[in-house]
Order: sequence, then C-alpha cells, then structure tokens
Amino acid sequence: MPNPNKVTERLFQSPSKYIQGPYAIQNAAKYLGQLGNAPLLLCDDIVWKIAGEELVKALTGAGFKVHRAVFGGEASREEIDRLGALGRKESSDFVIALGGGKTIDTAKTVADDLGKQVAIVPTTASTDAPCSALSVLYRPSGEFHCYTFFDKNPNVVLVDTTVISTAPPRFLAAGMGDAIATNVEARRCLNSPNFGGGLPTEVSAAIGQKCEEILFKYGKQAYEANKAHAVTPALEAVVEANTLLSGLGFESGGLAAAHAIHNGMTAIEELHTLLHGEKVAFGTICQLVLDGVPTSELDRYIDFMLSVDLPVNFELLGIPNVKDEELRRVAELACADGETIWNLDRVINVDLVFGAIKAADAAGSDYIRRTGWKRT
Ligand SMILES: [Zn+2]
Repeated sequence: MPNPNKVTERLFQSPSKYIQGPYAIQNAAKYLGQLGNAPLLLCDDIVWKIAGEELVKALTGAGFKVHRAVFGGEASREEIDRLGALGRKESSDFVIALGGGKTIDTAKTVADDLGKQVAIVPTTASTDAPCSALSVLYRPSGEFHCYTFFDKNPNVVLVDTTVISTAPPRFLAAGMGDAIATNVEARRCLNSPNFGGGLPTEVSAAIGQKCEEILFKYGKQAYEANKAHAVTPALEAVVEANTLLSGLGFESGGLAAAHAIHNGMTAIEELHTLLHGEKVAFGTICQLVLDGVPTSELDRYIDFMLSVDLPVNFELLGIPNVKDEELRRVAELACADGETIWNLDRVINVDLVFGAIKAADAAGSDYIRRTGWKRT
C-alpha cells in the first residue's frame, strides 16, 4: 500500500556538483581538489587502460597522492569490506569511483563506511547509479541482495563524454533502458515516499518527463553516434538523461514495478549476463501492462526499445524457454516486503505481476510480428 505512514513533506535531493563534457577527466583536479588530496581510486583492469591512467596523470600532475585499488567485479559486502580496509591502511581522505554501476555502488558504500566524501567518474552511461545516495548490493553469486542508503549524495559527479563515446553502444542502450523506466515509474507513485523518505516534488516529476522526452527525441541518434565513437549534441543529451535526469528522477520521484520486476529477474541465472538497464527495459513493459496503457502507448515504448536493441520479449532476453515456475518466482520476489512495487497506486499481487510478465513478452513478440522488425 502506498504511503502507509502518511508522509506529507515533499523532498528533493541531489549531488553537490555535476560536470559533463568532452575530455572532462583532464580537468579532474579542478573539481576534485575540494574533497582531499589522497584518494582511494576504485577501478577494474579494463577501465584502468581506458581512463585510469589518464585520470591518475591529471591528478598526480596537480599534486594528488592516488592509491589505486583493483575492483573485483561484484558490488558485494565482502568486496566493500576488503576495499574499506585498504582505504584505512592507506589513510585515504576521499574515494573515487571510476567505472560502471557496480564500481560506483561499491565506492559509495566504501566511502560511507570510511566516513569520507566520494567522487564518481562513470566510464559508461549505462545506469543511473552515479548521482544517487543509495547503492544496490549483490551477493557474490550475482543475485540481488539489498539497497543501502547514505546520508548524502555523491559530492562530485564528473562525466567525460569522450570516454563514454568509446564504450560499446550496448552500455548507452542499457542506460536508456534504465532511464526510460524513470518517468513510467515516477508518474505512478506520486503519493508514495521517495528514496529520501519524502513525497516527490514538482521538479522531480518534470525531470522524469524531460528524461523521457530526450530519449524519444535523441535516443536512436545517440546510439548511432556512439557506434561511430562521436561526441554529438544528441549523445551529450542522452548521457545527461541516463546519468543526471534518470538519477535525480528515480531517487526523488520513486521506483515502482519496473525495478521490482528487474530485481526478481536477477534470480534467473541465464539473465546474469544482461546489464541492469536491459532487464529494467523489459520490466518497464511489464509495468506499462500493469498500468493498463493503450496499445498505441505500449507500441511507442517497444518501438523505442527495439530502435536501440533493448530486449522486449523472452527470446531477446535470451530465455526463450523460460518456465512458468521461474516466472512465478520472479513475480514473488518482485512482490517481496519492502519492494518498490508497493509504491504503485494500484492493487498488486503475485498473480497480477505473473500475468503482466507473460503479457509483456506477448506484447513484445506481437509488435515484432506486426512490424517485421529485425535486428540490424
Ligand atoms: Zn535502475
């Protein structure tokens, strides 16, 4: 049931500073100097070669003493404890996350454990993790574990669009899958407390709408620009939609069924190779079905998702033979106590969610049949 505690205050929260542009990493010292001068830098080996060396060069050139920690790959409690101990040993005075969603969520939690500030430098625009004051933790096996919440949002978010334009376009598309859920979810939970514990403000609703507008206008164009490794106005707009607007929109607007169903889907082992936003995209179709939107409206979203190669049915998700028992388990997990599905302004139960998942697959397949869509 939405808002069981009858919260009446409106609340909006955000990072202190958001910077985005080509070659922005080269100016890192200018923006990170306010946080300290001995950062613990979290990044994996692949990201190190793409942007790590360049970031460290920019910082050490300005007198920073950077300690690099190799991120192990999963945002799990075990990994966070290991990195926190390293930060203590090195007397790090702030934390930098350089990488994708899991690196970012890990760094936010490490910084919170250490009582230090955190700077986020995303190397893909694949999730809305950079701006929020929460992390999604997973078990070492890759299954969803829990959300953890912090008192403060990240202090600085620094987005280098040149780096993002060199990442595989699949990441940008996944970010769009995450971002397309923002408005769909927020507009259906206007009376439920958001992640800050207050009601959504007018501005958070406007942010969700703007986010969606940008995706429908520029999503496909940005995806193609990303394939050409080109930084264009369309790419800049979509990176901002995926990172800033989606982040502010979901945190202060609220999540609902799309993310709850995503969380349930992490229990299916075959889906572990998919990115967060790819599963959220399918969860968004499930929520639109639950919302009872007209076919023309459903088609508009499915068309957008297919234009950037996001999965809209079981086959494209890579689970063509998924069993009803597995889908029922997804529905049960999506309806667990405390899940965001309970923010929705409508009656929810496991049967209804199970039905929406099956119907979302049917709607995606129907659209493909009707239009003759083929992956290019
Ligand atoms: Zn998300």
